[in-house]
Amino acid sequence: MLSMSPEQIGVMLNNLERDRLRAFDVAARLGFRVVHTNALPEKWLTGPEREQYKTAARQSGLTIASMFVGFDGQSYADIPSIRRTVGLVIPELRQHRSQVAKLYSALAHEMGVPSLSGHIGFVPSRTDPDYPPLVETLRAILDCCAAHDQTFHLETGQDPADVLLQLVRDVDRPNLGVNFDPGNFILYGTDDPLRAADVLGPLISGVHCKDAVRSEQDGTLGTETPLGQGEVNWVLLLGRLRDHGYRGPLILERESGPDPAADLVAGRALLAAILQAGA
Ligand code: MG
Repeated sequence: MLSMSPEQIGVMLNNLERDRLRAFDVAARLGFRVVHTNALPEKWLTGPEREQYKTAARQSGLTIASMFVGFDGQSYADIPSIRRTVGLVIPELRQHRSQVAKLYSALAHEMGVPSLSGHIGFVPSRTDPDYPPLVETLRAILDCCAAHDQTFHLETGQDPADVLLQLVRDVDRPNLGVNFDPGNFILYGTDDPLRAADVLGPLISGVHCKDAVRSEQDGTLGTETPLGQGEVNWVLLLGRLRDHGYRGPLILERESGPDPAADLVAGRALLAAILQAGA
């Protein structure tokens, strides 16, 4: 099992470099050894780009801890756009997107990647008639992942930790965990990251290191910041994750700003300093 050490500070690949093929080499040259990969255009999952992508990944020597699943037509511009376009919660897109998720599982299997991760969108209430079909869809994806010896990690933050915990219990599959993103709890104003870490505890199977400040206006997204300049208390959070038994990679994420690559490299130094000080 991976220890929580500076060597395990990784990066969200296309935050560093937008070119999906070149990004592997860029990350390796910057000294990263572990990454999460971003969602691909759906046509890459079946088209000629598929082999190019596998080759670029293999040649880089990087370890891919998890592949992020995403879908064509998603927009994270604001909360209404997210509600309308993101994830598996949209009934009319669910069947198609479920098939796309299974294509990711097959690709990850070929690439030796042990997990998929993804935003599923804002989870409907348990009393909503659309909740059971969402649970069934997740089970079908989880069973496909299990056949490939993979886990699936629900990205945190679009809902309070308790909602995600309930969903995990309802789906009831042993290969379902969460990818803990403290910045998202702040961006969406859904929970306190330290409290959320305690709620999700042993389910935490991946971690994104992203920072943010809350919005002062209800119903709007907060603002992402470089790591260390937002509201996440990294010293306390890393200690808390360790206490809950998390020993996997810490994946830096920086999705906006004028120079994300510089922020990611600075973020790595900050996290390394905290780990070396014995967080
Ligand atoms: Mg994230």
